Amino acid sequence: MKNKILEIKNLKKDYYDLKNETNAIKSISFDVYDKEFISIVGPSGCGKSTLLSILANIENKTEGEINWNKDNIVIGYMLQSDSLFPWKTILDNALIGLEVQKKLTKENKEYVINLLKKYGLKDFLYKYPSSLSGGMKQRVTLIRTLAIKPDILLLDEAFSALDSQSRIKVSKDVFDIIKNENKTVIMVTHSIEEAITFSDRIIVLSKRPSKIKNIYDIEFNSERDFLKIKNEKNYNSYYDMIWSDLNE
Ligand code: ADP
Ligand code: MG
Repeated sequence: MKNKILEIKNLKKDYYDLKNETNAIKSISFDVYDKEFISIVGPSGCGKSTLLSILANIENKTEGEINWNKDNIVIGYMLQSDSLFPWKTILDNALIGLEVQKKLTKENKEYVINLLKKYGLKDFLYKYPSSLSGGMKQRVTLIRTLAIKPDILLLDEAFSALDSQSRIKVSKDVFDIIKNENKTVIMVTHSIEEAITFSDRIIVLSKRPSKIKNIYDIEFNSERDFLKIKNEKNYNSYYDMIWSDLNE
C-alpha cells in the first residue's frame, strides 16, 4: 500500500503589491506518496518556484489546502542559488541547517560526518569550499539539506547552474544519494531529460496562471541513468508528449 504523505487541493496563489496583482497559480491539486520522486515542469514564470515556496512555508497560499500526513513535518529545501560559505569548512557548512534549527546535537553531527564520508567527502571535512569541484559542492549542499532529516525534499532547479557535462554526473550522484537515503522528492526542473530520467511521476504545468496540464507515470525497466534510459523504448514517447505539452 502506498502511503500518502501530502495532499494538495485546489491550491491558488495571487501576488499583490501596491500596483499589481499577479495570478501565479490558478488551481493545482495532486497527492504525494512516500518515497516518490516527482518532477514539476512548466513554462518559465508559471509558478513552479511559487508552488515549492508555499510547500516550504515561505510564501502564503491564497486559497486551497495543503495537508501533510503528520504534524511538524520536516522539509528540506534546496535552491539553485544555494551556496556554501567560503570561510567555513565543509563540515561547518554542512552543519548550518542544524545550527539554525538549534538541533546541533552530538548525534546529529555524527550523522552529518557519516553522510560526508559515505558520499566521497571524507578527506574534505576540514577543507574549504574552494578546494571542491562544482559537483562536490553540490553534494555538500545536499548533505546540508539532508542533515535535518527531512521527510520531504524540495529541489528548485538545483542543477541549473552547472554546465551540461557536470550536470549529468552531479544530478546522478544526487539521485543516488536521495534513493539511498530513502527520501521523497518534489523537484522543479526545466530539463525534460532530467525529469524523465529520475521521476516516478512528472507533473506538467500550463502557462501562468498555472493549472496541471498533464501527469505522467514514468516506468522503465533499466537503471535510472541518463544514457541507459535513452535506449529504452518509451523514452522518446515520454519526451515527445512532454515537449508538446510545453510548446502548445
Ligand atoms: P517559475 O518558477 O515557474 O519560473 P515563479 O513561481 O517564480 O515562476 O513566478 C510565477 C509568477 O509570479 C511570475 O509572474 C513572477 O513574476 C510572479 N512572482 C513570483 N514571486 C513574486 C513575488 N514575491 N511578488 C510578486 N510576484 C511574484
Ligand atoms: Mg522558478
